[in-house]
Amino acid sequence: MIHLENVHKTYPGLVPLHVLKGIDLHINKGEFVSIMGASGSGKSTLLNILGILDTYDEGKYFLNDVLIKNLSEKRAAEFRNKMIGFIFQSFNLITFKNAVENVALPLFYQGISRKKRNALALEYLDRLGLKGWAHHMPNEMSGGQKQRVAIARALITQPQILLADEPTGALDSKTSIEVMEILKELHEQGQTIVVVTHESGVAHQTEKIIHIQDGLIKNIEENTLQSNSPFSMDGYIK
Ligand code: ATP
Ligand code: MG
Repeated sequence: MIHLENVHKTYPGLVPLHVLKGIDLHINKGEFVSIMGASGSGKSTLLNILGILDTYDEGKYFLNDVLIKNLSEKRAAEFRNKMIGFIFQSFNLITFKNAVENVALPLFYQGISRKKRNALALEYLDRLGLKGWAHHMPNEMSGGQKQRVAIARALITQPQILLADEPTGALDSKTSIEVMEILKELHEQGQTIVVVTHESGVAHQTEKIIHIQDGLIKNIEENTLQSNSPFSMDGYIK
């Protein structure tokens, strides 16, 4: 599904910064993978390239056998909207829109009618355990609830890949476990997921840990998934 060959990325500037120095990576459909590494090692840069939010300079990135390189802004946006769901550390909700409007937003860009997008957004909020919160504004919700709204928004387009950049970075440990349990349930339902994290506890909830150091993959750690969460999230993802 995701295949990278010798991918390089340099940020231009007075002193150009060579951030990715030849990444080779393969991620299969349905895998639950994490990317770990020190601050500044290039994790977000790599994730943004995977999510077609950013370009790369050298090498090849194939997404479902399509070479993602030199795409026009329009083609890149089309691919992104069709294929990718994004979750961020800071949730990135629109502060002046309520939960249901936030979740429905990606469907607006697909030209779907307001009635249909709101109905579907309500369904996704319900799946994420947020029935009754549809008309609340982000500032009326806890961090965990906001992240669940963001997950619902990422899922509403039924993306082939879910990419998460430090999804638990702004949450306390109990809420982090909740969010990881949601991702695990999605994985069990067949969702392909890539999570960037600097927390080993989070990474060890995934099947495979890709360690990056100085812009290169240092090693890939296979992990046996364990269901040792202190509480069950049964019923969140229906
Ligand atoms: P963190 O754990 O702190 O989020 P990271 O591994 O995600 O770090 P990146 O955000 O990928 O690291 O950044 C890698 C390097 O590239 C850093 O030195 C950063 O300052 C630099 N960088 C990131 N984005 C840009 C940009 N848009 N322009 C110039 N330099 C950038
Ligand atoms: Mg980062």
